Amino acid sequence: MEKAKKLVLDVPDFPKKGIIFKDITPLLASPKVLRELIEKWVKQNKKKGITKVVAMESRGFLFGVPVAIGLKAGFVPVRKPGKLPRKTLKETYQLEYGTDSLEMHEDAIKKGDRVLIVDDVLATGGTADAVRKLVEKAGGKVAGLSFFIELGFLKGKEKLKGFEVSSFIKY
Ligand code: AMP
Repeated sequence: MEKAKKLVLDVPDFPKKGIIFKDITPLLASPKVLRELIEKWVKQNKKKGITKVVAMESRGFLFGVPVAIGLKAGFVPVRKPGKLPRKTLKETYQLEYGTDSLEMHEDAIKKGDRVLIVDDVLATGGTADAVRKLVEKAGGKVAGLSFFIELGFLKGKEKLKGFEVSSFIKY
């Protein structure tokens, strides 16, 4: 993971003053490191019986889709309000910078689906917790939440108590 960590750049004061944005685009651009990360991600979750990977726009999609393919699971997008074309379930949540809502198609998760929630960064945990609620509202079982980066000092894990939370890189 050292190679992966080197390809995450700190961008100070983006998108707001005081935020150090973790820029994963150099990692995405590296064929070798990207492949190794996705392979590790798949391996780590192979034995959980995952039937659906759920990820939130937009950087969550970048990791969620290849992980779903590797796990032979389906992929379900969670999006900002008004983007999904059919009937949705909705959750409002607190972000590190502001508040927002997320939506998921109401028929995307079937009762008994075993779900892995994937995102690039776990910060305060508000986003992941909202996605977790959407999955449970739809009748899915959250089998794990998996992040590339965890900003430990923001204590996002505390919001996700009782769930299996993992990350590859911690700050
Ligand atoms: P939170 O709800 O606070 O855990 O924020 C998580 C969401 O915001 C994730 O979807 C991240 O992509 C994004 N995010 C939060 N903080 C950062 C950061 N410092 N750098 C990059 N993305 C971030």
